[in-house]
Amino acid sequence: MIVAIDYDQTFSADPSTWTAVIRLLRAAGHDVVCVTGREDKPFWADNVREAFAKHGLADLPIVFAGMHWKREAAKAAGWDVNIWIDDRPDAVALPNPATLYHMLGTNAARKRFAHRVLLG
Ligand SMILES: [Mg+2]
Repeated sequence: MIVAIDYDQTFSADPSTWTAVIRLLRAAGHDVVCVTGREDKPFWADNVREAFAKHGLADLPIVFAGMHWKREAAKAAGWDVNIWIDDRPDAVALPNPATLYHMLGTNAARKRFAHRVLLG
């Protein structure tokens, strides 16, 4: 399986523990990729690469999703992720229309609006 791990407030929250988890997953034959909301720009990207290198994970692939949904950015980079480890799962992908519809609760006006916008 392919496991994606976020960087900010996920890997960075406890680098030693996540490094052990990443090594365990790799030893079991799984692929691990970092998918971060950061953009691949100087300082921001260097900071991530340096953190992984510091923990012996310089070879860990990194997808810089920037302003894109993480699932789409990962797919575009060739990673069809099976499992996500992320402090902000809402950054992975937009919920499907049915889920959004239920999230709107019982307000009829909101539901009519959502139906028009999301379902056509
Ligand atoms: Mg995060």
